[in-house]
Amino acid sequence: MATKSPPRKRKDAGAPISPPPLKKAVKSTTTTSFFTPASQKPKDRTVWSERGPTDDVPATLLVGRYQPENDDPTSRQKRRKIAAFDLDSTLITTSSGKKHASSGADWKWWDSKVPGRLRELHEQEGYHVAILSNQAGLKLHFDAKYKGPKAAVQKRVADFKQKCTAVLTALDLPIALYAATEKDIYRKPRTGMWKELCEDLEIPEEEVDLKGSFFVGDAGGRVALLGKGDSSAATAAAASVPKDFSCSDRNFAHNVGIDYKTPEEFFLGEQPRDFIREFDLVNFAFPGDDASLDTAKDLFEKKNDQDVVLFCGPPGAGKSTFYFKVLKPLGYERVNQDTLKTRDKCIQAAKDLLKAGKSVVVDNTNPDPDTRALWIDVARKASVPIRCVWFSTPVMVCEHNDAVRAHNAALNPEARESLPKLAFTGFASRFKEPKEKEGFQDVTEVKFQFRGTKEEYALWGRYWV
Ligand SMILES: [Mg+2]
Repeated sequence: MATKSPPRKRKDAGAPISPPPLKKAVKSTTTTSFFTPASQKPKDRTVWSERGPTDDVPATLLVGRYQPENDDPTSRQKRRKIAAFDLDSTLITTSSGKKHASSGADWKWWDSKVPGRLRELHEQEGYHVAILSNQAGLKLHFDAKYKGPKAAVQKRVADFKQKCTAVLTALDLPIALYAATEKDIYRKPRTGMWKELCEDLEIPEEEVDLKGSFFVGDAGGRVALLGKGDSSAATAAAASVPKDFSCSDRNFAHNVGIDYKTPEEFFLGEQPRDFIREFDLVNFAFPGDDASLDTAKDLFEKKNDQDVVLFCGPPGAGKSTFYFKVLKPLGYERVNQDTLKTRDKCIQAAKDLLKAGKSVVVDNTNPDPDTRALWIDVARKASVPIRCVWFSTPVMVCEHNDAVRAHNAALNPEARESLPKLAFTGFASRFKEPKEKEGFQDVTEVKFQFRGTKEEYALWGRYWV
């Protein structure tokens, strides 16, 4: 190397051209920070950066990294334990008492014990400390279609950064804060932020001490606590606690494979409260490679030389999987509105297939008798029987399946995008259980079960929503 001079830091850019201060007593009112010698500026020790799930999409993950003065990262190289925390309602809360911070200054510690406890973890207990936060209210970049007011959105990001910089500065520990701003792989309970954290700490994921690591967050799926004893409204209100808005923090810890604690358990030493998962993987253990397929095949036997099989069930119920694993091998052709776009095209395609002597599966949601009647008519005109297969998959499972599909290319053969909530509630509002008397030869109920390989279950058997 030809030069020994250290690389010039960006922060020093103004230094060479700033006039040397002649007298300390002289203060110019026009002096801006640009002309203040770098040595006199309070150093902003939080560095912000952004990352994206892939190189083709705008960044959605905001990362703030705080480095204390005289910090020596090499002193932590051997650490393998991670203590990770949610931010809102775990480390901090609003000082205004509002649900959402009204400005960058609207925060206080969730409890006065918080900063001291984090310091102990870092200084005495050998942990890497990190903050992992869902912030879907923030938007880092606007796509071409965005029509809303931009200034307010940009202010929210600026306020958030200001608040977090203040929190990190108050802690004065080598901590990185990750904020997931979209419903993508970074959002808890998904584990994208954990992966980034391990990479930044330069610890291969498999080398993290999972037994020693833990995550603390308030979204624990806790059920509401009703006031005890006295049934008068005032006493009940004083003692009651509302249920958690979500279980995403507990489920995130489950996905990573680390211990989970609520802020009350971790900081205040309270006993765990009851919780429920609306969708609980405990009820969906891997049934075995062959077992899942065998039971599926037992559910449906071919009865007619040629017929129509009408599916009924919400999006994400497992209809297409059932077609490919069970009915396609029996020689059924498939019409599907996601592929053909309109119902008229589906009906035409089905008529053509029936005319050619094929049996047909109608792989649409078909929630109500009116929609199903159209297909019963198609079968009647072709003089073939029509059977119904009803997928009674609970809506929570459907939303799970939908998220698994959208976030895992390997389980998404038709490259479907994640569906809006309306797709599920819309089905539920129109749904009427299918009955033979509508004109079906029979109605077969298929209860949901995971149907796939062990490799596929490794992805399916995590929390995604
Ligand atoms: Mg929270």
